[in-house]
Amino acid sequence: MSRPLHVAYGALLPWLGYCAIQTGRTGNWWATATFAAASALTVIAALREGQLEDALRREAVRDEREARLGRPPLDTAECAASVALAAACCERWWTSAGADHDSACSRQHRSDAA
Ligand SMILES: [Zn+2]
Repeated sequence: MSRPLHVAYGALLPWLGYCAIQTGRTGNWWATATFAAASALTVIAALREGQLEDALRREAVRDEREARLGRPPLDTAECAASVALAAACCERWWTSAGADHDSACSRQHRSDAA
């Protein structure tokens, strides 16, 4: 879909430029400004189309890579929960918001030293 759009933009841009020049010759400055603005928007549309195509290609490559590895796509909330769970140790640590440890906790001495 992207290539035909690029071809259309590529054909439209010189035509709009030609129209801008011709209306400039007749002194119709509003029409000249309109054609010049349309030319600029055509360039922007072509650039955006390229960015969209790149993003879609990146997404497809990532999906294919994840499918090949048999891993589900990463979820930000799942990652945050995994990090929080990995840092947790004992029940008292949870209830004290990380300020204290159980007397039998293996991390007790580490936090005392800090
Ligand atoms: Zn602990």
